[in-house]
Amino acid sequence: MNHLSFPRILIDLDLIASNVQKVSQLCHENGIELVGVAKVTVGNFEIARTIRQNGADKLGDSRLKNIIKLHNEGVPGPYQLLRIPMLSELPLAIGYVDEFLVSMPETAYEIDRIAKTVQRNVEIIYMIDVGDLREGVWFEHAVEEIYEVHKNLTFVNLKGIGTNVGCYGGVLPTVENMTILTRIKNEIENLVGYELLVSGGSTVTLKMLEENKLPKGVTQFRIGEGIVLGTDATGDRDIPYLSQDTLILEAEIIEVDQKPSVPVGEIGKDAFGRTPHFEDRGIRNRIILAVGEQDVKPDGLKPLEAGLEILHASSDHLIIDTTESEKTFKVGDIVRFRMSYGCALRAFTSPHVEKVIVNR
Ligand SMILES: *Cc1c(COP(=O)(O)O)cnc(C)c1O
Repeated sequence: MNHLSFPRILIDLDLIASNVQKVSQLCHENGIELVGVAKVTVGNFEIARTIRQNGADKLGDSRLKNIIKLHNEGVPGPYQLLRIPMLSELPLAIGYVDEFLVSMPETAYEIDRIAKTVQRNVEIIYMIDVGDLREGVWFEHAVEEIYEVHKNLTFVNLKGIGTNVGCYGGVLPTVENMTILTRIKNEIENLVGYELLVSGGSTVTLKMLEENKLPKGVTQFRIGEGIVLGTDATGDRDIPYLSQDTLILEAEIIEVDQKPSVPVGEIGKDAFGRTPHFEDRGIRNRIILAVGEQDVKPDGLKPLEAGLEILHASSDHLIIDTTESEKTFKVGDIVRFRMSYGCALRAFTSPHVEKVIVNR
């Protein structure tokens, strides 16, 4: 472990392993295959390998670069590309991706054409929008479009259909929208004459499994956040049977001070064009940490220590009010946080944040 470098993320592979074991057990008991998703870690191969070795049947990522990185580190697939592909990435993607999620006929045909050229058998899952308004053919004309695509494919296989919720509209998975999906599955199966895979959900859909509300026919889940962080942002909960201590952010104190709660001087905008607002709470105890907007989402940081209030972050400085804390802080001390999904995404993406495995 490199003790010299902060900020850093402490990664607990044992807790991630235990999370994926629990999620995969829940999925497998219900006849659902698990695509484990480590995209929030930007292709961290140790995390991806842990996920694959502890119950995930496949690995999914939205970025081709991450998939190539995992592949080159020897992490076993199969690999699913979660983001509907750019035409421009297909020639490269065809060598690494086993399952493509698509939502446009022309993309499906281009995959078909390239796969045929290189004679690599990849599979296609056609995405259906059941209401969230991100990717997918609108459910009302899904059957016609997907059947048409199926008829025009010459080499690759239409393996199944899928949907995504909770991403743009914040639409929650329900018996109603999952039933739309399984109804469409039945209609297309009657036309094509074979069984389709139904890729039904992400972390937010786990709740339906827990409550035994998922309609029969859903056969695949793509789960990231629940496994990696133990949380469900769309469903707004800590998942009770999973650990939330998988990833801990540590940052170092570079100033300890007492200052007024209201700035002195004429007030413009902050470094990000935001107009700051202040409440006069007198003189307050504050600390500054060497971490900023470039590395974290300040509103997604949850201090492990009680009584800390995050006031503000600029690019490189995080200011925290410590007046309510029982602890005395000094320069050089380390403060620890849990992170929201968005915050973890930024922290893993920042080259200034060290990523440290605490157990291997
Ligand atoms: C990221 C992603 C997932 C995984 O979502 P989580 O909320 O992290 O479980 C599933 N499907 C698609 C298409 C995604 O982009």
